[in-house]
This record gives sequence, C-alpha cells and structure tokens, in this order.
Amino acid sequence: MSTASESSAPDTVRSTPRSPGHIRLTSHSAGFGAPQISWGAATAAERGPVIATTTDRAHRNVIGTHSGSYSVYRALAVAAGALSRDHRADLTNTSPTDVIGPHRQWADPNAIVSLDPWGATVAESFPELLASGYDIRPTIAVTKAHVILPEIAEAISRGRLTPDGEFLLSTGAALVTKAAVEPVWWLPGVAARFGCSETDLRRTLFEETGGMYPELVTRSDLEVFLPPIGGQTIYIFGDPQDLSNPAVELTARVHDECNGSDVFGSDICTCRPYLTHAIEECIQGAQRGGVGLVAYSRKEGRALGEVTKFLVYNARKRQVGGDTADQYFARTECVAGVQDMRFQELMPDVLHWLGITRIHRLVSMSNMKYDAITGSGIEVGERVDIPDELVPEDARVEIDAKMAAGYFTSGAVPTTDDLRQVKGRGLSG
Ligand SMILES: [Zn+2]
Repeated sequence: MSTASESSAPDTVRSTPRSPGHIRLTSHSAGFGAPQISWGAATAAERGPVIATTTDRAHRNVIGTHSGSYSVYRALAVAAGALSRDHRADLTNTSPTDVIGPHRQWADPNAIVSLDPWGATVAESFPELLASGYDIRPTIAVTKAHVILPEIAEAISRGRLTPDGEFLLSTGAALVTKAAVEPVWWLPGVAARFGCSETDLRRTLFEETGGMYPELVTRSDLEVFLPPIGGQTIYIFGDPQDLSNPAVELTARVHDECNGSDVFGSDICTCRPYLTHAIEECIQGAQRGGVGLVAYSRKEGRALGEVTKFLVYNARKRQVGGDTADQYFARTECVAGVQDMRFQELMPDVLHWLGITRIHRLVSMSNMKYDAITGSGIEVGERVDIPDELVPEDARVEIDAKMAAGYFTSGAVPTTDDLRQVKGRGLSG
C-alpha cells in the first residue's frame, strides 16, 4: 500500500534542482555570439570552431551535440543527477600524441564532409575563444597503445611474423597510434555525396529520427550536424606521418564493425579473421619500411544493427533448403528492405583527413569500399583477399555470395550453380 504522502503527490512532473525548469526549444534563434563555420576554409581560424555545447545555447553553431550515440547516456547522467549539466571538460594533457595534418584535403570542402579535420586540435586552434569562455570540445582524440591479439601471437609462433622490438615486441604486442573520430556532418556536402537535395536530407533526417532535431528543418543557417551515430577508430602501424607520403608503401583495411565475429569469434562470417589478417599485413608492411592502417567504422551488421542481423541469421538457416549462398542477399533484403545500409560514400573522409593519396595494398575484397575509395580520388594498387584457410566453415555462404556479387577475388568467381551447393550449418548444429 502506498503511504498518504505518495498518494497525494500531484500528478505533474516537478522541476528538480538539476533540471533547467523550462524546456529550451532548439527551434528558437540562437541569438548572438555563435562564431561562423566556413566549411573547407584553409585554416582553423578561418573555418571557425564547431561548438556543440548544451550549456550556453547562444554559442552553439551546429545541430546536435558531442559523442554521437553516447550523447543520450550523457543526458541520462544529467537526468540521474550524476553529472552537472554545466560540467566543462578539463583538457589538461589530453592533446594528441601525434600531429596529423593539416593536409591539403582539409581545405577542400568536398573532400571531407563527415568529420571535423580540426577536431583534434581545438586547444591549439582556438585559444582565444576558449579563454573567453566558449565551450569548444575535441571531436577527435589521438593516442598510443600496444595491441595484443592471439592471431598475432600465432603468426609469430608459426614464423610468419618476427618481433623487431620497434613495431612488434617479443611479447607479441604491436605498437600503434590510434585515433577516435566522432561524426561531424556538413549537410550540404553529405547531401551532394548521396545525390539528394540538402532540404530533402534535412527533412528525412528529422522525420526518420522521430523529430529528434527540429533545427534540421527550422535552422537552415546551421549547416553542420553532429548525428547520434557511432564514429570511427583508426589504428596506425608505423609512423603516422608516412600515411600522406605516396612514396611510402601503405597497407590499409577499412573494416565495418561486426561485434559477433570481431569480439566474440562467431564463425558465420569472415570479419575477425580478415581483420586480424589485415593487422598481420600492416605489421609486415611497417617492418618493410612502410606504414599500416586499419580504419574501423561503427556500422554494425551492414549498419542495419544487430537485431536485424540476428533475425536474418534465423531466416537464412530456417528457409527451405537451408542456408545457401544463392539466397544470402535475398534473406537480408526480406528482413531489412535493403541488402546493405553502410553506404560507403562517407567512409573515405577519414583517409583524406590522414592525407592519404595512395593505398599500395588494400586488404579488402569489397567492391563498394574499393569504388568509394578510388571514386574519391585515392589510388589503389594491389588488392589483398582473405586467405582461403582463414575462412571459417560456416562463413563460406557469406564469402562466396559476396564474390559472386562482385567482391574482388584472386581466385575463381563462384557460379550460380556453385552458390546453390554452398551450404551453412543449421540452427541446431
Ligand atoms: Zn561479420
């Protein structure tokens, strides 16, 4: 039974000391005080800072806020009273471990449209604005790490890799420089990439997020949007400065997130084996005097999400005739309405941020990734497919279907008849 005081509580939401007491509509004009953004300007000062703070609305010059999808957790932390809404990041000692750029691509408004090239260096780029009270936060962080993978230890024990004490230690640890990159979209440029009008893009983003960002339709003067999606992480093997030098051999893989395989070793696809093979290739490349790069995008399950992905697994394995390669794409399309939502059009931006003009060895079989990279003006030399012995038994369905659909292979392309024969495990197996 409820107590008298609880049952007599008014049926309204009461303002708590940590809430602002009134809703601040984002559709209202921000007023004065927001610096302009000139996307693609040659210097940070001319381009202007990206200000996505929620504390001083008058300073905001973008739609959305920091941290991609984690912005919702930040809101939860504020709602729960765990985080002060006025908290300012103390950025002491957080500056990048390695200098990236500036590269000439940073001054081309069409080369980079989905990240802020100046996002790692806000402290160096905008000291006066920061000193005068503008809450400008990094959207890119660059650090160093050792990565230790059982596949690399195995490659050492089998003699494919040899520790050199510089790129690969005798402990099996590979030395990397890594960067985390949040999405920052310049809407006119994103619309151009997808061949739609900016108005249609804004309206569709507004409607398909359930009306989450009214400014998309009310504030056409704000051209930059920080979308609530995952970003990218890059891992560099060797000297990051070498990435922009076309004379230095670059081994690179652009990899889309697959939690089931990448982290948990699920054997229905080739994601982790291909990723660890790429890391092995990157280490070998660095040891030859080159540089290696893995760019990892948070686009789980072809950007359809894991729920859709697991539904598709069941549909594949329960269909009449079992899980065959000839039905691989059809089952995804039945559940999701499309075969793929990764749309690689924005993916090359991170390569242009790094100043890359040539990839000597692209460790990917995807024609969509290859087309996006070369279409953005980056030369690609050799393409490196996954060695056959690294393809798990149950993943033959996926890789054969992809090769038949146009993925690069140095071997034979499976025929329609072959695809009918390639069969995966059942659900009870
Ligand atoms: Zn996978």
